[in-house]
Amino acid sequence: MELLERRIRADGEVLPGGILKVDGFLNHQMDPQLLMELGREFHRLFAGEGVNKILTIEASGIGPACFAGLVFGCPVLFAKKNRTRNLSGEFWTSTVFSFTHHVENTILVSKKYLGPGDRVLIVDDFLANGAALDGLITLCEEAGASVAGAGICIEKAFQPGGERIRARGVRVESLARIRSMSDCGEIEFC
Ligand code: 5GP
Repeated sequence: MELLERRIRADGEVLPGGILKVDGFLNHQMDPQLLMELGREFHRLFAGEGVNKILTIEASGIGPACFAGLVFGCPVLFAKKNRTRNLSGEFWTSTVFSFTHHVENTILVSKKYLGPGDRVLIVDDFLANGAALDGLITLCEEAGASVAGAGICIEKAFQPGGERIRARGVRVESLARIRSMSDCGEIEFC
């Protein structure tokens, strides 16, 4: 999506270790007009899939997921991160290794809000190694919900998550796919 690629080139910052900082418009300060356009694009891509719920993970997926939810006209559910494993039976849980914080989190959603009747679009800000997406897909599987696919704002295609999850049979649509990033800040899109 050209609008997003232009914004990444203009305001994104490449940090050492293959991290792209986009906290001026996506995951700290947010540009609502841009996020609305991303939501519309997710809707264009997944219209007709019968999506009745958007699922994301706290915290930085919540912004784009809410705008997607507005366009789809459906609820937005975010998985919470929890380090205590002592959970009663009211939650679906799975585990996710955080790429940015280097810790393993248990993620959970209430059984009240995800179940076999749901057709889910997973939305997240980044796809890198795919741990977050794997965890969210596992939550849906546990709940018996079906996954229409994943809508990702920025995929770092030089990391293995996208390829692995597509090979698993899940439709993944990324609005900007980065082929490479150099330490001097050059970004090449697929
Ligand atoms: P994964 O689980 O696919 O390795 O990473 C996905 C999660 O890590 C995203 O939800 C995002 O919050 C974070 N993440 C991964 N790579 C980056 C990056 O380059 N920049 C930022 N800001 N977050 C990232």
